[in-house]
Amino acid sequence: MTAIDPRFDHRELLEEVARRAADFLAELPDRPVPADPRAVAGLAAWRGRPLPAGPSDPAETVREIDEAMRAATVASAGPRYFGFVHGGSLPAALATSWLAAAWDQNAFAYRSAPGAVHVEEVALAWCREILGLPAEAAATLTTGASVANFTALAAARHRVLARAGHDVERHGLFGAPAITVALSAESHPTVRKALGLLGLGRERVLELAVDAQGRIDAARLPAEVRGPLIVCAQAGNVNSGASDPFDALREWTSARAGWLHVDGAFGLWAQASPALRGQTRGVERADSWATDGHKWLNVPYDCGLAFVRDADALRAAMAFDAAYLPAAGEDVPREPYHYGVEASRRARGLEVFAALRSLGRQGVSDMVERCCAHARRFADGLRGAGCEVLNEVVLNQVVVAFGDARSTAEVIARVQAAGVCWCGPTHWRGRDAMRISVSCWATEEDDVERALDSILVCAGRRRARPPASVGSGAGSALGQGGIARAEGAS
Ligand SMILES: *Cc1c(COP(=O)(O)O)cnc(C)c1O
Repeated sequence: MTAIDPRFDHRELLEEVARRAADFLAELPDRPVPADPRAVAGLAAWRGRPLPAGPSDPAETVREIDEAMRAATVASAGPRYFGFVHGGSLPAALATSWLAAAWDQNAFAYRSAPGAVHVEEVALAWCREILGLPAEAAATLTTGASVANFTALAAARHRVLARAGHDVERHGLFGAPAITVALSAESHPTVRKALGLLGLGRERVLELAVDAQGRIDAARLPAEVRGPLIVCAQAGNVNSGASDPFDALREWTSARAGWLHVDGAFGLWAQASPALRGQTRGVERADSWATDGHKWLNVPYDCGLAFVRDADALRAAMAFDAAYLPAAGEDVPREPYHYGVEASRRARGLEVFAALRSLGRQGVSDMVERCCAHARRFADGLRGAGCEVLNEVVLNQVVVAFGDARSTAEVIARVQAAGVCWCGPTHWRGRDAMRISVSCWATEEDDVERALDSILVCAGRRRARPPASVGSGAGSALGQGGIARAEGAS
């Protein structure tokens, strides 16, 4: 073949891919969770591979990639991956992302993708509703919470400097009054990275004291703050899952005419559940919020969301001045390029729409509650066998230590090698520990039981009898909805 045929008939290739993907997904729940080291080594050997001189049959390429990659994938979309904070892909979201790839819409502007912009508007409105955020907040889709934090903090920087008479978009930070950025040592590193990119400095911050769960301590907020103020709080500490005291932070920030931003990459989704909303009480009173779609909402990578109450501030920070773009007409709901960092981008709101359309309010609430119930089951099982759970398990995160740093590291290595589940290391309040994050829509109680058995064997602990009922303690009614119980799992 000398060129790819422009009239290439996709049907056969896409049907083959559908079969291959369905096979992968069917194997996912029972295969080892880590990537097969031999398959990874096979791909490492691709380095230095010569660039093909010319075209070949597309099907050949797809086959080669699938055959080489499949065993080299980490089963992070599967039900027993508890590393980082991941989440899998809901069926409707995954399938919609295939369609969206075929459509290949550029959702940067209404004129380039009018249908997609309309669907994204609905997806963003539904997110505001389910997250309990103000209906007037401007919103934008990003690659993840990192860029969502950056986007929201750019709006914050605009507003606090505009109030001080400085136009930061025009003049940069030259001649601007110094901004005080207040955050805690428990802020996610992506927040500091965003501050660095915005010229506010990763280290030039007012550090707020935290309590034992990593929440900002409302009783120890400083009285004195100089200059324009931006406060970065979080919903869902990446280790403990705990959220900052938003009501107190709102009062403190407002009294100093500041901007309150919330990084809620996964924790903001507690808002979707009436039973968990207490965790994030007052979060809707902030000025801006960052969250992820690809974590707890379980849409495919990559997808984040930023919301900014002061729409003019976001628009001022992100305005895209291009003489070549046609003026927006009456029919244009909103030009995405005025609200986000990117111009050209995929229509990632389609998958958000699909996830919310297929789960509905109740389905999202059930998914979030189920993950939290699984986390409590983990904590109960670990504690019951004498392991040290280091956090109050208030959400979907469990931090557990197996003795000192060295033996904890050994247990983690054994758990990963066993391959029944995957959990990673963390460092929490001076201790080395293992972190379990339950964020996948597909995780069932049986998965938790199998993972617990494996972890305890690796830790050399005897399993206490599994509890007869899930989630003893706070919120014990959570997480039973729609899940087949698998008692006494293997
Ligand atoms: C994951 C995470 C982020 C970063 O999100 P990305 O989607 O990886 O960019 C920020 N903050 C918190 C609390 C997180 O858990």
